[in-house]
This record gives sequence, C-alpha cells and structure tokens, in this order.
Amino acid sequence: MAEIRLENVSKSFGSAKIIEHLNLTIQDGSFTVLLGPSGCGKTTLLRMIAGIGPATSGKIYMDGEDISDVPPGKRNVAMVFQNYAIYPTMSVRENIEFCLKNNKVPKKERTERVERVAETVGLKEYLGRRPSELSGGQRQRVALARAMVKEPAVFLMDEPLSNLDAKLRVSMRTEISKLHREMGATTIYVTHDQVEAMTMADRIVIMKEGVIQQVGKPMELYDHPVNKFVAGFIGSPQMNFFDVTLKGNEVTFEDGNKLMLPEAILKKLNGKEGEMTLGIRGEDLKMDAQNLELYKENKMKAVITDTEVMGNENNLYFQFGGCQAVARVSKYEISQVGDEIEFVFMPSKIHFFDKETEMNYL
Ligand code: ATP
Repeated sequence: MAEIRLENVSKSFGSAKIIEHLNLTIQDGSFTVLLGPSGCGKTTLLRMIAGIGPATSGKIYMDGEDISDVPPGKRNVAMVFQNYAIYPTMSVRENIEFCLKNNKVPKKERTERVERVAETVGLKEYLGRRPSELSGGQRQRVALARAMVKEPAVFLMDEPLSNLDAKLRVSMRTEISKLHREMGATTIYVTHDQVEAMTMADRIVIMKEGVIQQVGKPMELYDHPVNKFVAGFIGSPQMNFFDVTLKGNEVTFEDGNKLMLPEAILKKLNGKEGEMTLGIRGEDLKMDAQNLELYKENKMKAVITDTEVMGNENNLYFQFGGCQAVARVSKYEISQVGDEIEFVFMPSKIHFFDKETEMNYL
C-alpha cells in the first residue's frame, strides 16, 4: 500500500501541452478513478505514475519518497491495460509466473504465489490452459492475476474492462472491487465510463482537457458538482440544463414558463440575478401526486414526445423551457407519447450555473 502525490506535474508532447501544473494526492489504500472524456489526459497521467511516460516537469512521490526519476521496474507498481497482452503460447500458469521468473524468485515461492493469486481470481482450475482456451473474462483475470502476483504497492488500471461485453463488464466490476477490498492496495483506475466510476470508486478525480475539475466521493460529485461539466458528465440520462433569467425570486424559462424559488435557495444565491443556467436531474422532476400537491404553486405542464422504458424505470422526454427535457420516473408512472403531464421541480435539487464560467453557484 502507498500514498501517491503529484506535485506541480506537467506533460507536453512537442509543443502540445497536455497536462499543466497538476497537483493530486491519491490516498493510501484508496480506489481512485480517473474519469473524463476521451483525450483529457487520463492515460498520460497514469503512465507518468507508472514511470513509462515521464513527466515533463514536476515531482511524483510514493509514500513521501520522490520517485520522479525511478525507472518503471523499480516503482513497485503493476499495470493492467485495456489490451491485456497475455502471451498466447504460454499457459495461464506461465503467464502469471512470467515476471516472478524474470525477477529470479525461487521456484517454490513462485508456485505458492501463482497458486494463491489464481485461487483469488478463480483461475485455479485453468492454470494449465492456453489463453485461446479461455473466455474474455477469464483472459482479463489472467491479466489481473499477472499484476497481482507482483504484490505491488499500487495497481494502475487503464480501462481494463472496455474490451469485454456489457454483462461481463458488470461482473468484472464487482470482482475488481471485491479484490480491492480484500487486498487493500492503492488502486488507480482510468475510465471514461461514469457508471464504472460511480460503482467502483472511493474517490473520483474528474478531468477535462488535462485539468482536474473535481475530486470527491461519487455521491459528492453527483449531488454537488462544482461546475456544469461535472454535472453533465456524471449521471445518465444527463442532467437537464435550461437557459433562464432570475429576477427576485422568479425564474423565467426561455418559453415563458415561470418558477418561484424558495427563500433557502435565494439565500444561497446571495443576490445573484440575471441570465444563468438552471440544472436539474431527471429524477428530481416529479410527477407523483404527493409532490404535485407539495409544490402545487409551481406546477408545470408538458406533452410527452418520447419514452424510454428501462424496465425498472422510465425516461420521459418532453419539450420544456425551450429545449428537450427528461424526467426519470418509476415503472409505475406510465405515460405514453402524446400524454399531457404535470410536473414539479424538487427545489432542493436545483443547481444554478454561471453562464460564462459554468461554475455552480449553490
Ligand atoms: P482515452 O480515454 O481516449 O484513452 P485519455 O484521457 O486517456 O483518452 P490520453 O491518452 O492521456 O487521453 O491523451 C491525452 C492527449 O495527449 C490526447 O490529445 C492525445 O492525442 C495526446 N497524446 C497522448 N500520447 C501522445 C503521444 N505519444 N504523442 C503525442 N500526443 C499524445
């Protein structure tokens, strides 16, 4: 186990500055997910920690020791990649054993470690097989076992599940989380899949264009996004965003609909008025009888234009406030295309973002 600290780290490829002056501490024993859209610099960051793509400037510390100039093989980290390059001509045992053999670990210890790890990832009966005789999930487990057998202080995982089909991804997600709980090693996991991040992480580091936007527990980011980017990136369907004008306690939408804000929100807004973006998640637009009664002074009307039946819940799409909006309702709240619905905004779940900086006011 180890704490990783990046201090003022920058990375350029030629004249392209990918990461500039980044600071981040990854807590000992945590499962930290680096999340962000394609090209935002997640892999670049991971490679710098691994030592295989050295930083242009700045320092990287492991448990307080400066490892910036330590070669990858001496960093006590193990990496699992998206393309888990396991050797096709070697058996599962030989694949897992490979690095131990290279490091001249004695035969008896090698056998013990390989078998222990194979047991943990459920591959004990497969040690004699070649990779071509395994399923995709089993092959990915060989890649995990190969990293685990090194007993590193830090696991670095770069989209390790993205080549697997949807069902296998879900089960491997659970397996990796379980392994982390059992082993407790610091794990840094790169993904652009917000569901993976939400379900696996202790902490999410969300990035955009090489810059960290927010660091926090999954539900902190979900409930209290610092800006419109984080609000929009996390959650599916995406948060609804409306261009509005606020004057006094009255919010006016582009289509003329009006919403009166309670005192508690006005207090937080601290006198801010004018044009801004109102954000609210689909599940916080309510159309059940209890909420319609509770917030009856702010009832809105719309006509359903599309529905997505998910089984456990439904997404209802409609035009409102000058754009398409979505409400996420339970499977018992059945609506059809063409139905007129009434709905209310859960006041405590409303966000307001600055039009220019996109920062969350609340
Ligand atoms: P993805 O989710 O698609 O893997 P990412 O967030 O991991 O994306 P990186 O692979 O870190 O993104 O790439 C960040 C940026 O750095 C991209 O614009 C990419 O084109 C650029 N980049 C990465 N490696 C190199 C390289 N060796 N030479 C030049 N540019 C590079």
